[in-house]
Amino acid sequence: MGFQLNEAKRSKAKLRLTIDGPSGSGKTYSALLIAYGITGDWSKIAVIDTERESANLYYDLCGTGKKYLVGQINAPYTPQKYLEALQVCEQSGVEVAIIDSLTHAWTAEGGLLDIHANAVKAQRTSNSYTAWRDVTPLHRKLVDAILTSPMHIISTVRSDTEYSQEKDSNGKTVVKKVGMKPQFRKGLDYEMTIVFSLEQSHMATVTKSRISTFPVNDMLMPTFETGQKLLKWLNEGEDAPTCTECGRKITPFGSMSAEQVALHGQRKYGRSVCVECGAKLKELDYGEKTEQNAPVDVLADKKEEKPIENNED
Ligand SMILES: [Zn+2]
Repeated sequence: MGFQLNEAKRSKAKLRLTIDGPSGSGKTYSALLIAYGITGDWSKIAVIDTERESANLYYDLCGTGKKYLVGQINAPYTPQKYLEALQVCEQSGVEVAIIDSLTHAWTAEGGLLDIHANAVKAQRTSNSYTAWRDVTPLHRKLVDAILTSPMHIISTVRSDTEYSQEKDSNGKTVVKKVGMKPQFRKGLDYEMTIVFSLEQSHMATVTKSRISTFPVNDMLMPTFETGQKLLKWLNEGEDAPTCTECGRKITPFGSMSAEQVALHGQRKYGRSVCVECGAKLKELDYGEKTEQNAPVDVLADKKEEKPIENNED
């Protein structure tokens, strides 16, 4: 019924880049270079800094001109603080927000793992699985705020060396380096447009990519030019559809492209609206239907029908 075929197209997009790497690999520095390559204006770049003002260390990058902006998040590192920080950046006219780092929202005091541990304690059983019910919506909200932002977002994630214990040919236990494990909830890389994994040498490997000009396994040293090249790809394509409610560009949501979000609004509501406005209108269903909406309408209809039946008697 509603199925249509359209010619494939791509609309202009905003960057969702994750830079992961061990401590000292240059995540913040690389993020700033890429951000400047995108904006060409330091004053349109903001660092949401969780690492106690480490972002200020690269002040000299800006030369004598305008400086990038820095805002601090301190413990407890609740997802809510990240959402507020992103909102402030957006309202301040920031074009590239650097979340440095996202790891704090996961592993640090007050982060999602802490919230999970507290939820386990609050339950009567020690079933840690059910406690995720309290945590997953908060995690989702944070990731969605990144995915739907009208700003370019670069998130840094700390990765730690992963080891495994194995027996050698003599039966002796040896510790073997397996690789690097990003310190955030698994699956983040699938949500991002592109992921760079940095090494101590400051070289980055493209470990995930939807950007044809940055194929997976390519190696590069992040520079201003990296940002320019990313922007070129992001700006190819058509202008993203605009929300008829708030006037902002409609951004992709989860696995839905901006066009799919717009089409969803047209089908359900008769006009293109962004996810935020759709949620406000409560007319749209993005997969999480609240139980409150539908039954109220059904009850209202039934109330009107009853008196008519009584009249007939
Ligand atoms: Zn809107």
